Amino acid sequence: MTTSLTTLVRTQPDTVAARAVDVARSALLQEVPPSEVGDHLGVEAETEAERTVTHFFACSRPGYVGWRWAVTVVRAYRQKTITVAEVVLLPGADAIIAPPWVPYRERLQPGDMSPGDLLPVADDDPRLVPVYTFGDDPLDADDKAQVRDVAKELYAGRVRTLSREGRDLAAQRWYDGDGGPDSPLAQAAPQPCSTCGFLMRLAGPLSETFGVCANGDANDDGRVVAFQHGCGAHSEVRLAKKHEPQPLPEHALDTTLGADDYESF
Ligand code: SF4
Repeated sequence: MTTSLTTLVRTQPDTVAARAVDVARSALLQEVPPSEVGDHLGVEAETEAERTVTHFFACSRPGYVGWRWAVTVVRAYRQKTITVAEVVLLPGADAIIAPPWVPYRERLQPGDMSPGDLLPVADDDPRLVPVYTFGDDPLDADDKAQVRDVAKELYAGRVRTLSREGRDLAAQRWYDGDGGPDSPLAQAAPQPCSTCGFLMRLAGPLSETFGVCANGDANDDGRVVAFQHGCGAHSEVRLAKKHEPQPLPEHALDTTLGADDYESF
């Protein structure tokens, strides 16, 4: 973010306006009970107009710890009379205020959707492009309906498809995620997915980088995985001899026991 020079240079407050503490307090007391007004805390000049000055007073209203009354006063050019512009309550540095508002659409995270929830996609979402257009010639409603019908047959009804940007975003997300080469599972894998018999190939531009894991015993079953991903359920994994289960000894049949002895077991 760039900061303009005007915000770096603090404007000197107008002397007459800066001294008008009593005028500011008097205006404040017309709006607020005296019990809620504390000491004069200071004065600041507005950056754009040096004869416009704001006086700050401590706020003792219950529940407003750290807030300040701000009374803005103005002195007109070549005038000595002070005019009160506004009286407001503002949060100070230590005030408890609500966190910045984040729109609902930006707060949603993958996994937040529940059955029945709807998440509309904007018409100009850069991740999508139209599958067809109506061309430059003006068409009436019937012509457009015909174009839609043909498009429906040709493109299985899809109005929009993934744009290059949408595809690149998805690829980057998958590569950086749990199905990518940097996940802990992949880092400890004996071999990559690219050599695994459970890797199902994808079609299209991402087919050289990603596939789908089809191993029901693997954590990534049914998920997109990068060729450099991997896990311990790789199709060619074999245990070393010393780790293989030891064969059980043959059953021993004790022929010295009689039939009555077996019944007692
Ligand atoms: S089983 Fe493991 S190595 Fe094989 S495709 Fe699935 S994630 Fe990759």
